[in-house]
Amino acid sequence: MKIKRLEISGFKSFVDRASLDFQQGVTGIVGPNGCGKSNVVDAIRWVMGEQSAKNLRGRSMEDIIFGGSEFRKPVGMAEVSMVFSTEDGRVPAKYLNYSEIQVTRRLYRDGESEYFLNKTPCRLMDITELFMDTGVGARAYSIIEQGKIGMILHSKPEERRFLIEEAAGVTKFKAKKQVALKK
Ligand code: ATP
Ligand code: MG
Repeated sequence: MKIKRLEISGFKSFVDRASLDFQQGVTGIVGPNGCGKSNVVDAIRWVMGEQSAKNLRGRSMEDIIFGGSEFRKPVGMAEVSMVFSTEDGRVPAKYLNYSEIQVTRRLYRDGESEYFLNKTPCRLMDITELFMDTGVGARAYSIIEQGKIGMILHSKPEERRFLIEEAAGVTKFKAKKQVALKK
């Protein structure tokens, strides 16, 4: 799975539509303090299904919607789309026929949210499942922020096990087992 493009609008400091292309190799995002570098990472985390406002450095989920600035009025909706390639084959079998997948998430000020997979409305669960076991999901290990290494080293064995299970590819089966047990 490789990110090809990220489109952000109304999300945090990105009031107008911003499109970021990710080329082959390593991408670095540079800029002065407060210019929105971490907001890009927050957008990636959010579009993959993050449900905790705290993990997105806010108090409530509404904080991710552009809240206005000196010259601009607040907006009513945040939208992030992430397009990624499936060339390495690390996607669930049902998506292998697509050369790229687009995941979109929207949030309105009234709290309503919408999720899309290749522009078709879907459930949050479909998005969570898509990223499960790939290591890039909202709770996975692919985003290592400040202090995370220390947190992993000092975490309890049960917490560390979550990362190992995700890397080994068993998270999906555990989730399916839980659903089956509930039925
Ligand atoms: P640093 O180099 O200090 O880590 P950064 O480039 O990572 O900075 P960010 O944390 O991404 O900066 O961006 C912070 C900016 O985003 C602040 O100016 C803040 O006001 C703005 N911001 C965050 N949420 C919103 C929002 N909902 N509406 C408008 N602006 C927002
Ligand atoms: Mg930052």
